[in-house]
Amino acid sequence: MAKVVVLGAGVSGHTAAAFLRKWLKKNDEVVVVSPEPKYNWIPSNIWVGVGLMNKDQVTFPLAPVYEKHQIPFKQARAIAIYPDGRDLEHRQPAVEIEYTGTGARAGQREFLPYDYLINATGPKLNFGATPGLGPTGHTLSVCTADHAVETAHVLKEKIDRMKRGERQRFVVGTGHGACTCEGAAFEYVVNLEFELRAKGVRDKADIVFLTNEYELGDFGVNGMHIRMGGYITPSKIFAESLFAERGIEWITRAHVRNVEPGIARIETLDGTLSDLKFDMAMLLPPFTGVGLKAYSPTGDDISDRLFAPNGFMKVDADYAKKSFADWKASDWPKTYQSPAYKNIFAAGIAFAPPHPISQPRTTAADRSFRRRPRAPACHQRSSARRSLATSWG
Ligand SMILES: Cc1cc2nc3c(=O)[nH]c(=O)nc-3n(C[C@H](O)[C@H](O)[C@H](O)COP(=O)(O)OP(=O)(O)OC[C@H]3O[C@@H](n4cnc5c(N)ncnc54)[C@H](O)[C@@H]3O)c2cc1C
Repeated sequence: MAKVVVLGAGVSGHTAAAFLRKWLKKNDEVVVVSPEPKYNWIPSNIWVGVGLMNKDQVTFPLAPVYEKHQIPFKQARAIAIYPDGRDLEHRQPAVEIEYTGTGARAGQREFLPYDYLINATGPKLNFGATPGLGPTGHTLSVCTADHAVETAHVLKEKIDRMKRGERQRFVVGTGHGACTCEGAAFEYVVNLEFELRAKGVRDKADIVFLTNEYELGDFGVNGMHIRMGGYITPSKIFAESLFAERGIEWITRAHVRNVEPGIARIETLDGTLSDLKFDMAMLLPPFTGVGLKAYSPTGDDISDRLFAPNGFMKVDADYAKKSFADWKASDWPKTYQSPAYKNIFAAGIAFAPPHPISQPRTTAADRSFRRRPRAPACHQRSSARRSLATSWG
């Protein structure tokens, strides 16, 4: 009998737990630990953020699903991993968790032993990387269902203003040079433009797509080719045509240095500094790992054995430093297994990719100061979709 602990109940954790329960024997145990009571189908937040779906349509409670499939669910956040045991007397691998929510156990900590551990904790939304970015600053987000609800609320208020004759400027995109997930911002800006037309206020709106992509249509994967209507079209042409048809302006190769009320202060790769005014801005944050630590039985911090400096978990990828020209598909992980501990795996965004897919670039300022190129913070799923064209640390 083996016990598998899955950390996180997003796309990857939920999938891992469901398949494990199906594939393992009845007396093997699968436990899920996740801090939120509900699952959020994140890709649909782009509809919530324009008011075309509500929160209940993109979330569902996890506990009844896990109960039905006899998977113990602990509403808790993992804090630290003890891969060789929590102390010299308790040598079974364990993860320290802290209960969340409003129940009697909220705030309590516990050591949860495991035979196998799957880290599927996804990203930390690192709004702090850009001063003023995010819902506690001066911009909006659609990264969580609650963020998207707030965004829809602000959009409604802006639509009301436009109906009263006011002109409004919307800025949508990435809030830092090291962002990934540009596709989500792209989808949101197209949804936004559609919704403004549907509400009859498009003529009162200026829409700017602000992105760290080197070219529009890069999507963090160095672009792609789309076969449609008998033609093969590069995604740059496809994306530019789509925006031109819809009157969406765009700024590429951009890093947001900081945000103040109604102003994004940006720097483009050639070193140009400028201010972009907005009435409403939805800007995605860069991602890091969620901040899990790892300790030896004697209490030594061994986090660097398990995690890369950006907090994502090191797996069976080739992390050797090499130039863009030498990157290969075979550098990417095959089993998602930790090289340090064979019973630990990382899935989804939680694993550390060996490098971005798009070529990292440095700003003019970086070059003049002879700083080493800085790779963007990467994330994404096991399909090896990866990061981005521009690079700011
Ligand atoms: C707006 C938006 C639209 C998107 N659209 C698409 C799309 O169309 N197609 C696509 O392929 N991808 C899309 N993505 C990306 C996609 O959502 C992610 O790749 C995917 O959610 C990653 O899954 P994950 O399981 O790794 O992380 P997540 O889905 O983020 O799940 C992480 C889980 O871990 C939990 N957790 C966090 N911290 C801890 C902790 N300390 N202990 C335990 N649990 C923890 C979280 O609560 C959550 O349950 C989109 C992303 C965004 C933001």
